[in-house]
Amino acid sequence: MGSTGSVGSSTIDLLKRSPELFDVQALTANRNVDLLAQQAVELGAKMAVVADEKAYKDLKSALSGRNIEVAAGENALLEAAARPSDQVMAAIVGFAGLAPTLTAIQRGATVLLANKEALVCAGDLMVEEVRKNNATLLPVDSEHSAIFQVFDFEHKSGVDHITLTASGGPFRCFSQQEMEAVTPQQALAHPNWDMGAKISIDSATMMNKGLELIEAAYLFGLSEDKIKVLIHPQSIIHSTVSYIDGSVLAQLGDPDMRTPIACALSWPERMDTPVKKLDLAEISKLTFETPDEDKFPALEIAREALRDHKTIVFNAANEVAVEAFLQAKLSFLGIPELVRKAIDSFDSIDTITLESVKMLDKEVRNWSKIQIN
Ligand code: NDP
Repeated sequence: MGSTGSVGSSTIDLLKRSPELFDVQALTANRNVDLLAQQAVELGAKMAVVADEKAYKDLKSALSGRNIEVAAGENALLEAAARPSDQVMAAIVGFAGLAPTLTAIQRGATVLLANKEALVCAGDLMVEEVRKNNATLLPVDSEHSAIFQVFDFEHKSGVDHITLTASGGPFRCFSQQEMEAVTPQQALAHPNWDMGAKISIDSATMMNKGLELIEAAYLFGLSEDKIKVLIHPQSIIHSTVSYIDGSVLAQLGDPDMRTPIACALSWPERMDTPVKKLDLAEISKLTFETPDEDKFPALEIAREALRDHKTIVFNAANEVAVEAFLQAKLSFLGIPELVRKAIDSFDSIDTITLESVKMLDKEVRNWSKIQIN
């Protein structure tokens, strides 16, 4: 799901290199028909789906005579997620990925989760559905993959805390004044990772680390005071787990998403990737800093959202703010400002169902758009 995106394309690259290991059932995109059709043909997918119904005709004609089922719309995404398959890569960006990811969980699939926003919006619901349906959730985000690889789930009482590393994004060394004038083009240029537009902006504001903090709380069952964040500009150590005896276990690797994707695809075994092998002598120096939370308030806002059960509000306001920033309707510093205001303006909801999450998400989006216009 989301095969035409950045994580999706890296996943397709790995599948193409090991065709003997995988048999592709369905591929989905929003509206990038050309790439989706090409991927579906190359991988011999049985079904190709676009979320945007307006793109149906083009997809149908691009795949005519190919014996690949073609469908469009939100329900078609759910159908794709419901098809029998062992694994589902959840790599749609944003809230749109929640319903199909839940559908895959509800049929007991192994879900490879890149779509962090789904867990941020409906963490309790997703964790409960995983338990009820005997599904498996494997992290794809590099930090969470790192923690997953060194976390002692059987002796969790021995874990003192975890530390998410963060590159600090392109504006780590900018002054407050320089940050006021940041353009979308500058914010899209991440120093270490080549990613989709939304996560690139989230990395620049550090909202991404806020989303990851919430994601880690649900994946590893930890309270926010057990999750620390450390700036590590080289992005070589992808995160660490600190144990009560003073040991710290880390996972290292070249910053290439194909490593955490491969780790999830082949878990509990390992598969070959073309990722550059890590040469620590060549890198020679790894550095670390404490995040500047005055300049980047996203972390504190995320902690508050988690404590106060307002993570849906956090995510919805951020998605609207990022979109507005990309369209030059909101300043860079306006993004955390809007999210903070949303957190202060909305109450939490007690019963979490897909319907209640969708309702609050919509309310926050409408409210956020009014604040911007
Ligand atoms: P991209 O923007 O590159 O790709 C998003 C994918 O989702 C595309 O296939 C897109 O289709 C599809 N999509 C977009 N909107 C919808 C919609 N409304 N309904 C259905 N499909 C939709 O994103 P990334 O690959 O960068 O990120 C995907 C997820 O993975 C995000 O949650 C991100 O936070 C997470 N992640 C990404 C990392 C990275 O390195 N990129 C690292 C770790 C996590 P189309 O191409 O047609 O628009």
